[in-house]
Amino acid sequence: MPGLSGQALAGLFIAATLLPIMAALASGVEPARVWSELGTGLGLTAAGIIFLQFLSSGRYESVSGQVGIDRTMGFHRIAAYVLLLFAVLHPLIYLAPTLYADPTAVWHRLTGMLASNRLKTGVVAMAGLFVIVGLASIRTRSFVRYEYWRASHGLLAIAVAGLTLHHAMTAGTYSNELPVRLVWLLFATTSLGAIAVVYFLRPRRMWREDWRVEHVRRLGGHVVEMILRGPSATKLQFRGGQFMWITLAPNHPPFHDHPFSIASGPADLPNLRLVIREAGDCTNSFALVEPGTRVAVDGPHGSFVLPDSDGPVVTVAGGVGIAPLLGMLEQAAAEGDPRSIRLLYSARTPSALAGLERLRELQSRLDLSLTCFVDEASEGSDLLPGPPGERHIGDLLRGLVPKHVTALICGPARMMELVADALLAAGVPPYSISYERFDYAAGKGRLDKKRLRKCLAVFLVLIAAMTAFSLR
Ligand SMILES: Cc1cc2nc3c(=O)[nH]c(=O)nc-3n(C[C@H](O)[C@H](O)[C@H](O)COP(=O)(O)OP(=O)(O)OC[C@H]3O[C@@H](n4cnc5c(N)ncnc54)[C@H](O)[C@@H]3O)c2cc1C
Repeated sequence: MPGLSGQALAGLFIAATLLPIMAALASGVEPARVWSELGTGLGLTAAGIIFLQFLSSGRYESVSGQVGIDRTMGFHRIAAYVLLLFAVLHPLIYLAPTLYADPTAVWHRLTGMLASNRLKTGVVAMAGLFVIVGLASIRTRSFVRYEYWRASHGLLAIAVAGLTLHHAMTAGTYSNELPVRLVWLLFATTSLGAIAVVYFLRPRRMWREDWRVEHVRRLGGHVVEMILRGPSATKLQFRGGQFMWITLAPNHPPFHDHPFSIASGPADLPNLRLVIREAGDCTNSFALVEPGTRVAVDGPHGSFVLPDSDGPVVTVAGGVGIAPLLGMLEQAAAEGDPRSIRLLYSARTPSALAGLERLRELQSRLDLSLTCFVDEASEGSDLLPGPPGERHIGDLLRGLVPKHVTALICGPARMMELVADALLAAGVPPYSISYERFDYAAGKGRLDKKRLRKCLAVFLVLIAAMTAFSLR
């Protein structure tokens, strides 16, 4: 996988975020009082994070390919909350020393700050931040159209970054210092580059190869299979389980592209299979797409793939979460992978077990054990009544040494959390459990909490650095 490890990325993020503070130190300006310097440190750091958010949008495989889309988007989301907190504290901390002695004066100073012409861009940027974070937290509600949210998210982020840049260059103790200005210049040009790639270069590149819809068929339930066909000399190289961003003509990327896992293996190129659940405006229209429709493709992305080690693999899929696992199994079968792979696959109804036929065919070419569950089981079928519980996870691991097992999970959020918790409880190490969320939402499982703590540790380092800056 391209990209840097999680630790390297965390180190780089900390170093980059602290650049404005380092530049302020290098400027040689005499420090003011502790609270003032802390307020300034918070402002400099919040501004730094705003610019770095453009790079943690999950679109740069060469940066975050190894950590995967889940962790990248999770970090992006947490960073947004933290930067909002830092931005709010930034003006308040200046007022902290007098808050207890004279709250009325503090209130007057605060309203004076908010109304001040000199600080206007900073105030509007802060309001913009609230809007961005607020809209992002309701983006999955049915009344929010994803494409509109996506477009507004990008445009608002660009506006907030511009206003922040103006505020940082015009207000504050260090705004006129050359080292600090150079850092803002660096951040601004890097962000502009990132915007150009995501909004202009990549959308153009997505049409570069002539990909078309070969055929679409309904698999059952609300699931359709779409086969795409690319040029026979396609440059696309991927590993089973990775995903692509695709846009069907006449729509254009970037606001209309949607991520879908590749449910076929590299040996099937130039054909690509997608298994898609009808979930909203875009996917509901897929069943009616005409063969020959052009498709803009960006990929591959993601790190949800079979590990290189030869230990046993257990996989759990729920509903359309089977898509990336199908991709992995197709690749394993084509390469004659001798590993023992166990798959636990559940869906609401038998017809929603998309790809079951194909999985049964793959069993003849792989050491693959398959256990299927349906919530509405019919009499006499070999499908077990679902949903699978802790006992079934125990069965899945029977005879295996948990610490040697790799687990891959994809499905509804709650299912993934329960399964990951059960695997952890059974002794599978956290680093051996991977899952792919289809919604970028925050998880509530033990593994999610572990990841959250790791993210927060990064921000604790920043807080420690800001404190040291203010106490110097
Ligand atoms: C890495 C990844 C791989 C995925 N693989 C598959 C797959 O193989 N098969 C499958 O059926 N689904 C997959 N999805 C989910 C799929 O992208 C969404 O269901 C689809 O984009 C919904 O679009 P819509 O316009 O039909 O629905 P909408 O009504 O617009 O949205 C339905 C839900 O999907 C979310 N969504 C919409 N567009 C996007 C987007 N561009 N990026 C992320 N979330 C979005 C919305 O937040 C909303 O909660 C995957 C998602 C991710 C992140």
